[in-house]
Amino acid sequence: MSDVSEPVFIEPASPRPRKSRQAQVRWGSRIVTVGGDAPVRVQSMTNTDTVDVIETAIQVKELAQAGSEMVRITVNTPEAAQAVPHIREQLDRMGVDVPLVGDFHYNGHTLLSQYPECAAALSKYRINPGNVGKGRKRDVQFAQMIEAAMRHDKVVRIGVNWGSLDQELLASMMDDNAKRAQPWNAQQVMYQALVHSALQSAAEARSLGMDPDQIIISCKVSGVQDLISVYRALAARCDHALHLGLTEAGMGTKGTVASSTALGVLLQEGIGDTIRVSLTPQPGEARTQEVAVALEILQSLGLRTFNPSVTACPGCGRTTSTTFQELAKQIDDHLRRMMPVWKSRYPGVETLRVAVMGCIVNGPGESKHADIGISLPGTGEAPAAPVFIDGEKAMTLRGDGIAQEFHQIVESYIERRFGAATSAH
Ligand code: SF4
Repeated sequence: MSDVSEPVFIEPASPRPRKSRQAQVRWGSRIVTVGGDAPVRVQSMTNTDTVDVIETAIQVKELAQAGSEMVRITVNTPEAAQAVPHIREQLDRMGVDVPLVGDFHYNGHTLLSQYPECAAALSKYRINPGNVGKGRKRDVQFAQMIEAAMRHDKVVRIGVNWGSLDQELLASMMDDNAKRAQPWNAQQVMYQALVHSALQSAAEARSLGMDPDQIIISCKVSGVQDLISVYRALAARCDHALHLGLTEAGMGTKGTVASSTALGVLLQEGIGDTIRVSLTPQPGEARTQEVAVALEILQSLGLRTFNPSVTACPGCGRTTSTTFQELAKQIDDHLRRMMPVWKSRYPGVETLRVAVMGCIVNGPGESKHADIGISLPGTGEAPAAPVFIDGEKAMTLRGDGIAQEFHQIVESYIERRFGAATSAH
């Protein structure tokens, strides 16, 4: 048992960066760097029919405005391939320069060669090695896609998915495994097949002349521990930038928690250069929810800062009123609603930390840790709400107008602290 009176040095936890190659995904003057020392990027994917140019362009715009730095669209038919340049034009007309990623399966080699305008309008191609073709056709068709990417100077993502893993490869690995003195179990062979499929395909692309910097890799599975195992192996065996995501994560709380858990562990280990959260939208839920979750994951880990944060206590028997819940929600909604305007008007406002707390137990302490915080009165406490600014008690609010007054205090704090940066320039 250690001596509890001994001081203990505790090192602050932080993600350990993994040095990967850096890819550049471009559209016009917009360059999204992926990997190397670039920030972890956020991606998403539309669920519209790509043939519907307007509907797809609108959803791409919504996803981009929500914070997606690349948006993938499915390119599954000749009609979809024909629509791609029109979607790009429509986005350019709307002033949306987010790079588009084409998702190809089965017929990508044909579509990319027969529709060069589609190939040119996309900024990145996703190639699934499990769906490129069978037998001898597989290598030829894979080569055709890589050659199209080189011809048009595009980045590729070699995206393996265990739902569409190359079955010939898996069967041959199962056979080899059976000959081992001590065979691995089926799960371990599956992991090996996923990683091998991705790395082998990347090696093939390089042997065809592709710049290794232009190759991003992913190996998506739907189990949290499976994803962690596979990506650790992948990261140890290559220096390509890695796209990270728990495939088919599911709906609502389950999908959000599973994605956050898996991505959180890997990102903390420095694994993952771009992420996508594959949420199934609940009826009536916006597609942009998956982007909101991705941003929260990165911000929670301290990897990126997108929005001001509002800390609120969960509430308990010490505060039976819902005032603090309502105030926390109002402040959070208001800050998010204003961010598109504030981002340019108040540089740095995304780092703001606000606390809205329910009683005196943790209220003043938590409020002092925030830039601006309020401790609302709990049950039986005097009806007074101290406000703390930059760690110091600044005032006490009383009466029915506490919410409105606190709103105004937050607004003038933002103006004073972050507005100064713009007026100084
Ligand atoms: S701050 Fe007060 S109301 Fe909030 S959870 Fe803690 S004890 Fe309960």
